[in-house]
Amino acid sequence: MSRFEKVLTRINAAASRPGRSDADIKLLAVSKKQSLEKIRALVEAGQTRFGESYVDEALGKIDALSSARLEWHFIGPVQSNKTRALAERFDWVQSVDRAKIVRRLNEQRPAEMAPLNVLIQVNPDGESQKAGCDPDRIEELAAMIDAAPRLTLRGLMAIPAPRRDPAAQDAVFAGLRDLFEALAGKRSGVDTFSAGMSADLEAAIANGSTMVRVGTDLFGPRPNGSAHVQ
Ligand SMILES: *Cc1c(COP(=O)(O)O)cnc(C)c1O
Repeated sequence: MSRFEKVLTRINAAASRPGRSDADIKLLAVSKKQSLEKIRALVEAGQTRFGESYVDEALGKIDALSSARLEWHFIGPVQSNKTRALAERFDWVQSVDRAKIVRRLNEQRPAEMAPLNVLIQVNPDGESQKAGCDPDRIEELAAMIDAAPRLTLRGLMAIPAPRRDPAAQDAVFAGLRDLFEALAGKRSGVDTFSAGMSADLEAAIANGSTMVRVGTDLFGPRPNGSAHVQ
């Protein structure tokens, strides 16, 4: 079985445990630091959705693969001087975590393109050095995005710190699910809860994740061993 097939099998098994369908869980292939050859092989196997964390690296890949009609998601920390490239070249930005970024993406999304899909990145761990907004700021950011004509709010994204204790890991995803449901309950277009990576996709899917972001288990280890970009 290829790495790709193994990941699809894991998603399918994780979905069936709580009685979910794997059709409700999208796979984002996290291709940061991975070669064009590896990405092309995955495109040929049928994958269309890719996630990148570094703007300059991503733009080169988007150009090189433009004939394949892929969906590109930005998942790294957003620097305000890079928002124009995100607004012009990506389909989704999953790491929106402050008002300034909402304003700039809305101003910079070209009028002839469809509105940019955005997720609010929430930080459930309360560690100030990490990206992601405080859970009690979600509604304020969501209201700003609702009022931004060039943006479409699709949901929440989170990168919880790994927890060794399965019950603690489950609890953090359950808390995120409550935040997602509170947001989705008030808005018809909110359909995406982006949670779960190579190491924890089962716990995320058990708690309602609709999009898992998998790098290492799809492509193998990143060449220079870069960790998750928080
Ligand atoms: C790198 C990264 C991933 C993928 O992590 P793996 O452990 O390689 O599956 C997922 N989400 C974000 C935000 C990342 O930066």
